[in-house]
Amino acid sequence: MPYFGFKGGIHPKYNKEKTCGKKIEKLELNVGDEVAIPLIQHIGAPAKAVVKRKDVVKRGQLIGRSSGFVSANIHSSVTGEVLKIENVSHPIMGSVPSVKIRVTDIDNDFVLVEDTDKFQDKVLAAGIVGLGGATFPSHVKLAPPKKIDYLIINGAECEPYLTCDHRLMVENTVEIIKGAKLIQSELGIEKLIVGIEKNKPDAINAFEKLIVKYEFEVIPLDVKYPQGGEKQLIKATVNRVVPEGKLPLEVGVIVHNVGTCLAIYEAFERGKPLIERVVTITGAVKEPKNLIVPIGVPVRKLIESCGGPVGDIKKIVMGGPMMGFSIFDLDTPVMKGTSGIILYRDTDLPDLSMNNCIRCGKCVEACPMGLVPAIMEQFSVNEMYETLKDWHVLNCIECGCCSYVCLSRRPLVGYFKTAKREIMNMMRQKKDAAK
Ligand code: SF4
Ligand code: SF4
Repeated sequence: MPYFGFKGGIHPKYNKEKTCGKKIEKLELNVGDEVAIPLIQHIGAPAKAVVKRKDVVKRGQLIGRSSGFVSANIHSSVTGEVLKIENVSHPIMGSVPSVKIRVTDIDNDFVLVEDTDKFQDKVLAAGIVGLGGATFPSHVKLAPPKKIDYLIINGAECEPYLTCDHRLMVENTVEIIKGAKLIQSELGIEKLIVGIEKNKPDAINAFEKLIVKYEFEVIPLDVKYPQGGEKQLIKATVNRVVPEGKLPLEVGVIVHNVGTCLAIYEAFERGKPLIERVVTITGAVKEPKNLIVPIGVPVRKLIESCGGPVGDIKKIVMGGPMMGFSIFDLDTPVMKGTSGIILYRDTDLPDLSMNNCIRCGKCVEACPMGLVPAIMEQFSVNEMYETLKDWHVLNCIECGCCSYVCLSRRPLVGYFKTAKREIMNMMRQKKDAAK
């Protein structure tokens, strides 16, 4: 297939060179270390704890059961003793209930995922969610009500600084493609495509070597943010447009991140639940790395494992610099959706002093969803949410391209996140009132 591309987008400085060539290392825990495993690490309903204080748990044991269709199981990432269930810091929700466990044994074994007949049930049992950052429970995505033509594996990793997916693609190519083939055959999908940005030639090369054996297509993608956005990736690779408010399956497509495919492979081939993930730790740390980290390990431990900070740290971001969230507590735990930890000094941060809009139109040019951020900002400031709905703010993917290019440094994406939240609340209230 040719590369069709998408409109808008930006070319930020990628800053990936510190870690893209480094092999994934294992973050080692010691007896006595503590992890805090949040019961909500996914989109949907929180899991319900199935353990209590003083319980002894094994690595891979279920500690939180999914509590609805859109929810996910949570497993212990260590062997240890449950200390308590208490709230810990969360980058978006402030704090969330979490199972605190003290490590009593360094265990490489794990409790096997419960065996089930149905493909989707095993994905649910393994607690797999989208590892590209969205954390949507994968069993839901893998039960499409209609025929799917394309399975697209998302290897774009367009966020600056992050290289965890890049390293997975180079080091676990076969496992990723086997995970993707499992999905393809279970759902009877005709075509499998792997999309990778051209700035990862070693990853493209690694997949191209497997094309004949596993029958799929590799599409090298232009290096442009947000190339890894689901809607942008679908437009760029198969030239289909997902309508506003709809999911990719509406246009016959399912997209899965490379890490999610690996997690599916591990669940089916090794019976391993999702208890760890690769995290890029970079920016102002002595030795930037990609580490495979048990879920629940505090950010503090990751920074220590990279030799500690360099200079006076002013900001720490969990996730990528474009779509990630600042964290203010080093005890914030790594979760299933944590792709990166980036440390910034004052000198690494741009001047964010705000000026008036000069109507330059750069935000409109940059918006990959065809929105008009400069106008939408005015409605947001005035809390005109009904009008904003008409201006399609719900279609905003919160990519931050508009804020990035704004010469006046208007915090545009922040306004739209708030507006979307308010509109969703209003819609929920209306629905409840109509019941
Ligand atoms: S954050 Fe929203 S409005 Fe801004 S560029 Fe991205 S999609 Fe467009
Ligand atoms: S980029 Fe900034 S200054 Fe230019 S039109 Fe948009 S909001 Fe106004």
